[in-house]
Parts: sequence; structure tokens; C-alpha cells
Amino acid sequence: MVLAQLGGSIAAALARMGKATVVDDKVLAECLNEISRALLQADVRFETVRDVKANIKATANLDALPAGTDKRRVIQKAVVGELCRMLDPGKPAFTPTKGKPSVVMFVGLQGSGKTTTCTKYADYYRRKGFNPALVCADTFRAGAFDQLKQNSSKAKIPFYGSYTESDPAKIAVEGVDTFRKEKCDLIIVDTSGRHKQEAALFEEMRQVSEATKPNLVIFVMDGSIGQAAFDQAQAFKHSASVGAVIVTKMDGHARGGGALSAVAATKSPVIFIGTGEHIPDFEVFDVKPFVSRLLG
Ligand code: GDP
Repeated sequence: MVLAQLGGSIAAALARMGKATVVDDKVLAECLNEISRALLQADVRFETVRDVKANIKATANLDALPAGTDKRRVIQKAVVGELCRMLDPGKPAFTPTKGKPSVVMFVGLQGSGKTTTCTKYADYYRRKGFNPALVCADTFRAGAFDQLKQNSSKAKIPFYGSYTESDPAKIAVEGVDTFRKEKCDLIIVDTSGRHKQEAALFEEMRQVSEATKPNLVIFVMDGSIGQAAFDQAQAFKHSASVGAVIVTKMDGHARGGGALSAVAATKSPVIFIGTGEHIPDFEVFDVKPFVSRLLG
């Protein structure tokens, strides 16, 4: 995964700085240039990289340190702190509570991995002792219901959908009501995606959202789109009161850093990342441990 390379490059820059006989402004500048190069290579936006660099310099504030301070540690802490800040919008997302019915609606473009991610999310909470269920409110794409049905059967999660009903809001409400009666505590509504962000898609999202009153709307985004993630996340955020993001396809491509930092720039917390096509290929995204692990 290219993110591991990013971590490796930043860790190497810090290690090189650590070996300098005297840590001064010049050594710090070299270290910051290396870190900036690594971030740009991982497709992080130029403006973000420029801010990260300036903030690390300001936080470390070498000139103001009393004699005898371990400057290496100060710089290391400043780097870790700044990477965390880059990825953390500082707003925690809604999390479901066991035994209390919650509705979570998934939105995203077709092909982003939305349907796969619905099942991964359901499976994650089932393992935590929840009683989840899946509702297919995608009447736009032929085969959407079959796909959800197949995925949920494989994961042994109850599902609801229709081959004949064409109103997504109606199916969504029926599904949510059915599972509320069955005492499911996490009802996941998969909505339609289209190829592009278009008015009809956003209108449909609004209708399903109004009909089901979700506790949380999760925007699913393909991580391989890199910096374009910023505009896409922004557009969905404005149209559907997105409360959290899941970035998929973080396995084996070049642009994960770009997607993660771009999403964070829209002030939406990333809660999980998808790391493969199978149900267990799913990781909680928690900024601090992620950054620590990234740096090795
Ligand atoms: P939807 O159209 O948004 O519902 O997307 P799907 O769930 O049908 O997924 C589209 C394709 O992406 C499928 O081939 C999935 O197997 C694949 N996919 C989904 N999530 C991931 C992921 O995290 N990593 C990889 N490599 N593939 C994924």
C-alpha cells in the first residue's frame, strides 16, 4: 500500500534528522522538505502540504527552545501532531448503540464500493453484538437488489428489497419499519448511486433521507480518485448532511494520502477504510493510531 511508503519516507526523514550532529534550522528545513516531497508524492494537495510544513516549523519553534532541550523529540512530536491534525476534522461521528434502533443511510456514486461497504459495516457491528439488517433502496440499477441479497446472505445478515417497487423512498420506509418491528438495532439503507453527481441522484437521496430520518448518513468514496475526493465529498456533504465518510479501495493504489487528506479538509470524519473486496477487508479509521502505525 502506497500509504505505507508515505509513512516509510516520513520516518526516514525523521531518522536522518535524528542522526545530525547538531539539529539547527538547516537540518529542520531539509527534514521538512523531505516530508513535503513524500506528502506530494502521496497526492496530498499542495496547499495542505504547504500548511503542514509551516505548522510543523511554527510548533517546533527551535529558536525559542531553552538550551539543552531535545530538539529531535520536539520536531518528532510536531510532525506527528501535524499529521494527526491534517487527517482529523475534530468532529466525532455518530456511533450506534446496542439495543437502541438506529438507521444509517449509505450514499455514494456507483462503483464506489457502497453495496460492498454496507455489508462490511453490518458485519463489523454484528461482531460487536448488534443485530443489523440491510435494506436495498436502489431501484435505479438493475441487479442492485440481487447484489445486496447475495452479499447479505453470504454474511448471514437479514435483508429487505423488492424486484417490482420503483419508489426508493417507499422501499426504504417499508424495510426500516419491518426491521424495527423485528427489533433490529442497526438498520442500514443502501441507496442508489449514479455515474455522476447529478440533480436526480441528490433529489433521490433527499427523499430517502426524509422518509427514513437516518441517525447517520455515510458517504462512501473510492479512495483511488485522489485529490478529486475533496470536490466529491464537498458536493455530497452539501446535498445530504453527510455525517461520516468511508474511503474504499485503500489497498494497492497510489492516491490514498490524497483522498484521506482531501476528505478531512471537508471536515467530515473518516470512520472506516476498505482494504479489499472481501467482507473482513475493513478497518476502523482512527487518526492517532493510524499515524503512529504509518510512521512505524
Ligand atoms: P457500488 O456500485 O458503489 O455499490 O459498488 P460495489 O459495492 O458494487 O463495488 C464496486 C467494485 O469495487 C466491486 O468489484 C467491489 O468488489 C470493489 N470494492 C469495493 N470495496 C473495495 C475495496 O475496499 N477494495 C477493493 N480492491 N475493491 C473494492
